[in-house]
Amino acid sequence: MIIVMNKDATQAQIDVVVTELTAHNLQATVMQGTERIVIGAVGDERSLDAKHLETLAGIEKAVRIVKQYKMVSREFHQANKIINVRGVEIGSKQIQIIGGPCAVETPEQMDIAAKGVVSAGCRLMRGGAFKPRSSPYSFQGLGVQGLALLKEISNKYQLPIITELMDVRMLDTFLKYDVDIIQIGTRNMQNFDLLKEVGMTKKPVVLKRGMSATISEWLMAAEYIAAAGNDNIILCERGVRTFETAYRNMLDISAILVAKRESHLPVIVDPSHSGGKTWMVRDLALASIAAGADGLLVDMHPNPREALCDADQALLPEELASLVTASKTVAEAIGRSLP
Ligand code: PEP
Ligand code: MN
Repeated sequence: MIIVMNKDATQAQIDVVVTELTAHNLQATVMQGTERIVIGAVGDERSLDAKHLETLAGIEKAVRIVKQYKMVSREFHQANKIINVRGVEIGSKQIQIIGGPCAVETPEQMDIAAKGVVSAGCRLMRGGAFKPRSSPYSFQGLGVQGLALLKEISNKYQLPIITELMDVRMLDTFLKYDVDIIQIGTRNMQNFDLLKEVGMTKKPVVLKRGMSATISEWLMAAEYIAAAGNDNIILCERGVRTFETAYRNMLDISAILVAKRESHLPVIVDPSHSGGKTWMVRDLALASIAAGADGLLVDMHPNPREALCDADQALLPEELASLVTASKTVAEAIGRSLP
C-alpha cells in the first residue's frame, strides 16, 4: 500500500500511520519527496482497509497495490480452471452451450425442451425452479416440485442440470435433489451468507455478475465461495444496467476479456438475459464466443409465446440448434471447439 501524506502533515501524524501499519504486520518506509511525504507499506495488506486508514489525520490518500481477491486470481493459479460436471468439461478448449427454459413449468414443457437441448447438441440443461421475479404477482416458479421435475428430466436424458438457488434455507434440498450446478443469480451476487454456504459444498457454482457490479466486486464475490472451500466456480456475464432502454441489459463484452485475464475461472455468457430480445440472442452469443467466452447460458422454450417467464427472449428449439451450428464456426475460427 502507498500512503500519501498531506503537504502539512506533522511528524506526530506520520508516526501514528507507521504505528498503525506496523500493527498490521506491514513494513513501513517513510520517503521524503520534494513536495510531500509518501509512506510505502510492504507485506500482506489484505487485512488493512485503505478507506479506514484514510480516516487518520494527515493522510491525503491510501492506495492499495495488491488486489483483494487471491484464490480466484490468475496470479494465484496460472492455468485455466476446468470444471467437470458429470463428465462435461467447462473451461477447456471445448465450449459448452447450456440450453433450456427460463422457468420449469410442466412435465411436457420440460420433456420437449430436453429433447431440443439434446438434438441441438448441447450437453447441459438449464431451468429455474425458484424464480427471482420483479413482481411478487408474477410466476414464482414451481419450487421443490420444479427440482423434482429437473431431476427426472436429467436422469431421462442424461443431462446435467443447472438451476438457481435464492435462499440459503433451500440449500439442503438442492443437495438432496443433487442439482449438478448451483446458479447464483444477479440479484444475489453479493448475498455473502449464501456465497459462504455454497462455498462449503463441492458443487459447481455459476456466479452471475450483479447487474451493477464492477468486475472487481464480481471476483470478490467469487472469492467468498473459494475462500469457504469451493473453487468449482464458473463466472457468468449477463449484462449490466445502463441508461439504454433499447434492450434489457448491456452485454459487457470487455468483461469477458478482463475476467479471463484476472481470473483462472471459466467465464460463460448469458446472451438471453443481456439482450432480453429473441432477435438479439444469436449475435450476442456469437460475439461472446469470439471474445473468448467458455460457454453460453441460453433461454429456450418449446413455445416461447406461452412461456411463464421471459417469453420475449426465449429461442425456439430449432433456433437453439441453429445457434449451436453457427457457434461451432466461430469457435473453430479461434481455435476452439464445440461438442
Ligand atoms: C436466470 O438465468 O433465470 C436469471 C434470473 O438470470 P439473472 O440472475 O441473470 O437475471
Ligand atoms: Mn429469466
